[in-house]
Amino acid sequence: MQRKQKGSETIKVVFRVRPLNSKEKQDGREICTIAHENQGLIEIRNPSPEGGGGEVSKTFAFDAVFSESSSQRQIYGVSAAPVVQSVLEGYNGTVFCYGQTGAGKVSLKFVVSLFFLCSYVPYKFQTHTMEGVNEPSELRGIIPNTFEHIFDHIALNGSKDKYLVRASYFEIYNEEIRDLLSSKPQISLELKESPDSGVYVKDLTSTVVKSVEEIDNVLQKGKKNRIVGATLMNAGSSRSHSVFSIVVECCSSDEQGEHIRVGKLNLVDLAGSERQSKTGATGERLKEATKINLSLSALGNVISALVDGKSQHIPYRDSKLTRILQDSLGGNTKTVMCANAGPADYNYDESLSTLRYANRAKNI
Ligand code: ADP
Ligand code: MG
Repeated sequence: MQRKQKGSETIKVVFRVRPLNSKEKQDGREICTIAHENQGLIEIRNPSPEGGGGEVSKTFAFDAVFSESSSQRQIYGVSAAPVVQSVLEGYNGTVFCYGQTGAGKVSLKFVVSLFFLCSYVPYKFQTHTMEGVNEPSELRGIIPNTFEHIFDHIALNGSKDKYLVRASYFEIYNEEIRDLLSSKPQISLELKESPDSGVYVKDLTSTVVKSVEEIDNVLQKGKKNRIVGATLMNAGSSRSHSVFSIVVECCSSDEQGEHIRVGKLNLVDLAGSERQSKTGATGERLKEATKINLSLSALGNVISALVDGKSQHIPYRDSKLTRILQDSLGGNTKTVMCANAGPADYNYDESLSTLRYANRAKNI
């Protein structure tokens, strides 16, 4: 399961294929993307191979693959849990979720027009793997499982060590950074760099949290702001990258004195990876799409430079996303990319491009 390590740096890539949804079943969609869990392979079959020359089927190997029958807990255990554990030990780490916007773009418009905005949009904003559904608890995704992991660890160790946990939540939309915990989330924040703290977001709210409940309140507040912001800007659901960051400081003492460890975790829900040729975007939307793709392609370039290990230059400066994550990508950190795809034939192009993107992030 573990990739070969370069120093203590690891990048792990896992791939999840969701089940057909009820509409896809109703429409009698064929499955073209299949997760072979035991072999760690994803197979993708071309539903319309041109003539005789077209390749019928391709396979891609990942550190772990998850089929429709996999559980949220399993995915957490394999992908995020080791990263969270190392953050608790004082390292930095990042978990990305990546993939095309869930097969629901048309239905999103439909549902919005039916004024189900309030009940529907909150669920559309976070990727199933990243957040999931609150009840039943088995359907909770990486973020809520992370909250429990951290505070369970503190409950176990809190009598000998002192912990301080802080959370922040922002999004990057159109290469602009917005603080989702601020009372003025529409203001775009600046990136600064200092010798002490590296690259940071100036004036970003950071909230001290003492329990799962408190950190969950922070998440909910941010999600509300995300919806308000997106509605004001008339933006679709998955057009921004969101970053939920948790800093865990631990102070322990022994005969030699006090030791402070600080670990930072970024939980990043990347914008939908769908290509713009398909969405028919023009004008402002196309500009926006280009910027979304800019951050995604910059991230792809950074990750492949890191896994390649030979590059002298890691192009962190090419986008806001990669600049902010600079101290949590590469070096003494753990990174996991959770790529997601739909199984159905009409998602073939997008699933293949998600597979290729995820494949770039692997060590050679
Ligand atoms: P996006 O974040 O791109 O909009 P989602 O990850 O939220 O996409 O998925 C879209 C829809 O598919 C959601 O209704 C979600 O609940 C459902 N879904 C996604 N992955 C799974 C899965 N593994 N199991 C069950 N339902 C899923
Ligand atoms: Mg999403």
